[in-house]
Amino acid sequence: MEEKKKRLLDRYLHSKTAVSNRVIEAFNNVPREKFLPESQVDHAYNDTPLSIGHKQTISAPHISFIYAEKLNMEEGLKVLEIGGGSGYNAAFFAELVAPKGSKNPGHVYTIERLPELAEFARNNLERNGYGETVTVILGDGTCGYPEEAPYDRIIVTAAGPEIPNPLIEQLNIEGMLIMPVGKKHSYQELVLLKKTTTEIIRKKLGGVAFVPLIGKHGF
Ligand code: SAM
Repeated sequence: MEEKKKRLLDRYLHSKTAVSNRVIEAFNNVPREKFLPESQVDHAYNDTPLSIGHKQTISAPHISFIYAEKLNMEEGLKVLEIGGGSGYNAAFFAELVAPKGSKNPGHVYTIERLPELAEFARNNLERNGYGETVTVILGDGTCGYPEEAPYDRIIVTAAGPEIPNPLIEQLNIEGMLIMPVGKKHSYQELVLLKKTTTEIIRKKLGGVAFVPLIGKHGF
C-alpha cells in the first residue's frame, strides 16, 4: 500500500499536481484506504473516483490536491465542505487547517445529505483521529450551514447548475470557494470564486466530472 501511495505521489510531483510541502504532508498523513468500503481498499491509490455505495463516489485523489493547492489552506482557517461522502477530503483539509499540535487550530464542517454516508464519514473520521477537528452535519449543503458562518473556505464536491447564493453569503470577506458548475451527469467547469469587500471574482480552472449536487439550490 505504501509503495502504491509513493508511486502516485511521484506522479503528482512530476505533473506539478503536488507543489506545496504542506499539501504533500497532508496526503502522506491521511490513509485513504481507511476511508473506503472493504471492496475498494486495493484501489485506494489508483488515480480514479471509487464507489462508496448509494450511487456516490470518493473523488480521485488529484481532486483533493487541486482543491488544497488552489485554496491556500492555511492553519487556523474555518472550512465548510459540501458533500462529505467518505470523510476523506475533510480529513485532508483538517490536516492543513488544524494539524496535530497546532496552537491555532481551524476547523472543518462537512455536510452530507445521505444519512448512511454521513454516518460512514463520521465513523471514518473518528476512527482515524479527526473527531475533534471535523464536524459532520446531515443536511442539504446547498443552504450552507449558517450556524457557524462565515467561512474562510467553502469546498463543494458535487456539481450544481450554479454556485448557490447562500454559500456566497456565508463566505468571509477575502474568502475563497471552489465548485464544479455545469450540467448533471456530464462534464462541468471547476470554478474558483474569491470574495472581496467590493466584488466577487470567478475564475475557470478546467473541466471535471462530478456527481450531482441535489438540493434546494442545486439540481
Ligand atoms: N468529498 C467526498 C469524499 O471525500 O469522499 C466525496 C464527495 S462525492 C463526490 C459527493 C457527495 O455529495 C455525495 O456523497 C453526495 O451524497 C453529496 N451531496 C450531493 N448533494 C448534496 C447536498 N445538497 N448536500 C450535501 N451533500 C450532498
